[in-house]
Amino acid sequence: MKNFDVVVIGGGPGGYVAAIRCAQLGLNTACIESWLNDENEPVLGGTCLNVGCIPSKALLDSSHHYSFIKHEAKNHGINAPSVSMDVHRMIERKKNIVQTLTQGIAGLFKKNKIEWLKGHGRFVSAYQIEVQPAGDESGESYQVTAKHIIIATGSVPMSIPPAQVDNELVVDSTGALAFTDVPRRLGVIGAGVIGLELGSVWNRLGSEVVILEAMDEFLAPVDRQLANEAEKLLKKQGLDIRLGSKVTGTGCNNREVTITYENDEGKQQVVVDKLIVAVGRKPNTQGLGANEVGITMDERGFIQADEHCRTNLENVFAIGDVVRGPMLAHKASEEGVAVAERIAGKAGHLNYDAIPWVIYTWPEIAWVGKTEHELKAEGADYRVGNFPMAASGRARAMGETDGMVKMISDSKTDRILGVHILGPNASELISEAVLAMEFDGSSEDIARTIHAHPTLAEAVHEASLAVDKRSIHF
Ligand code: FAD
Ligand code: AMP
Repeated sequence: MKNFDVVVIGGGPGGYVAAIRCAQLGLNTACIESWLNDENEPVLGGTCLNVGCIPSKALLDSSHHYSFIKHEAKNHGINAPSVSMDVHRMIERKKNIVQTLTQGIAGLFKKNKIEWLKGHGRFVSAYQIEVQPAGDESGESYQVTAKHIIIATGSVPMSIPPAQVDNELVVDSTGALAFTDVPRRLGVIGAGVIGLELGSVWNRLGSEVVILEAMDEFLAPVDRQLANEAEKLLKKQGLDIRLGSKVTGTGCNNREVTITYENDEGKQQVVVDKLIVAVGRKPNTQGLGANEVGITMDERGFIQADEHCRTNLENVFAIGDVVRGPMLAHKASEEGVAVAERIAGKAGHLNYDAIPWVIYTWPEIAWVGKTEHELKAEGADYRVGNFPMAASGRARAMGETDGMVKMISDSKTDRILGVHILGPNASELISEAVLAMEFDGSSEDIARTIHAHPTLAEAVHEASLAVDKRSIHF
């Protein structure tokens, strides 16, 4: 039986990064991964690379270019009267990007001498895992032992009884990344991150999109000021977002789906050609045998882990979507790095208060730290600086004037408590704020930092000046 210092179960952004960091630190490491792609080939990368972050961003980029050419190019003097969309080519492009990146991870495993065990892992004991070869239920299983085990088994889409996924007319996020043509009418259940991103892709390509959201509030975790502005902008783009609309049933004939939902005015119906169910994700512990060896789960099925990602078994850690905290790839990866370093006897560190969030709509929404409503509820004493993108020279030059930067800092110490950005490239702009918060920075620190002109980053600078009511351009 093979024996390793570390066995990682799951090769997504949590697991593969943990495995690479373990190997860098001289630990003899294996990673068990069972994912098979559409061609039935074993692949690394998990949800993020195969059916999550990367393919969704590939389609968001393609559809953004299409929408730009159709609606904005003329403002730049570019005439493109007969633009059309080749969905097949767009999906092929996405597939190629995914393939290049997943093969890249396999290459990194080779380089770092990580053994990739292609199969499904199941706990036999706290130190022993059985591996069933991927896609081969009748194939012979084998066991490996490890001093340390890292669970990185991720998450899977949640389903709801009123909308059963049939992968024909009713799909989950994975199906929505592989439509072969543009649905004329598209329904989306859930106005969360995934629902808004995928709804945006197909809306830009011409679908009439209706998004049904049970909650009355739009994007509850987002700062109210930005969420309200984003709602207006997305509606203007054509997304028919219906809040306070709880889906209670669906009926399919062989061509279309009738969705029944309830709102303040009672029972409503809407008919669509395709329906995306985007109601959230749940931790994936299926067939893991974690219960059987006594690993504690919480009431929602997440593996219980302390702030160091240690489970109740001393040598077993858990990271990423399968444990508490935001379901974000970079959170999974950073937990992977921290756990690897702890196993190697170092002081792995992760600051849960400085994790950036991004929603890749257009404009993008990105934030770090606390929202104004959270701070208000805490009774915190804070100052706010706002700067509209419309006052940024670079945003004007780009023709991207929607949105704003909002910075919140402590009234007494000026320490930055939260930064919220709605605007072009917000996903990139937020890094400066994350870095400042990581160093316990103040709005004055950003205000004293020289920002290149003309850049969108100047909007972050101006927001920091606005905290002290000394913004130059607004
Ligand atoms: P996963 O990526 O889910 O990987 C878990 C892996 O474990 C899988 O490959 C699975 O096959 C394997 N596995 C599970 N059980 C076993 C077992 N018993 N044996 C062997 N292997 C096993 N996050 C962002 O930060 N930014 C984004 O832009 C973003 N966009 C997204 C878009 C979509 C459409 C979706 C669905 C998700 C998106 N996410 C995004 C979320 C992100 O994908 C997850 O947070 C991230 O993948 C979690 O990483 P993980 O390693 O914990 O789990
Ligand atoms: P997220 O958890 O961010 O992926 O978002 C999922 C969204 O789906 C949440 O905002 C839920 O309120 C919403 N949701 C869940 N069930 C339903 C339902 N039956 N009808 C409408 N919206 C729903």
